[in-house]
Amino acid sequence: MAHSMQDKAKITSHTEVVTEARPDSMPDLSEPLVVMDGGRSIRFTGAQIAFASSERPRAPRFTEFRLYRTSKDMYVVSRTGCSRVFHSSTCRQAESHRLPYGNDLQVIPEVTRMYPCGICNPSRMEDARGIRFERERPWAGVADNAPGVVAMLTQVESKKTGLTSGSSSQIPNLSARLLTVASEIDTDIRAAYLVMDI
Ligand SMILES: [Zn+2]
Repeated sequence: MAHSMQDKAKITSHTEVVTEARPDSMPDLSEPLVVMDGGRSIRFTGAQIAFASSERPRAPRFTEFRLYRTSKDMYVVSRTGCSRVFHSSTCRQAESHRLPYGNDLQVIPEVTRMYPCGICNPSRMEDARGIRFERERPWAGVADNAPGVVAMLTQVESKKTGLTSGSSSQIPNLSARLLTVASEIDTDIRAAYLVMDI
């Protein structure tokens, strides 16, 4: 997943505490935020400006997108693959992916709201400390400006769906939702997303 940090990407390797008031309605920026990209952390001061999720009732796996604007007027896109699937301690698939046991987690998920693996069919009655949970899969990228965000979000879902670059002008559903939400509060995203220069 390190590829996502190349190209337009730049990592802010230090944090800066912003003390002056923002001219617009940005929230308090003094607390550094940390967004994960695989095992790497992207740390910055800024604010989340949009959120979109594909979560639906009875969908065991879904994707969450978040868009942040940093105090240096860059953008961070984060995409998290989420799962509500749990496995028995003996599941081969869980073993091959080295999934953590409930006992290894800081917070044990509430099994009653989760979905048993269709292969190992674990019982919801098992001790949650002994069953295995799927990890979140975080991806993040940094864009220098709003057009970079639009380009990145187009690529992100194209890669995921295996579409070729010929389809890249079509912005898939979840990215479109994120950009629509962001457009409501960020004029630069609005200009980049809703206005096409030809
Ligand atoms: Zn399983």
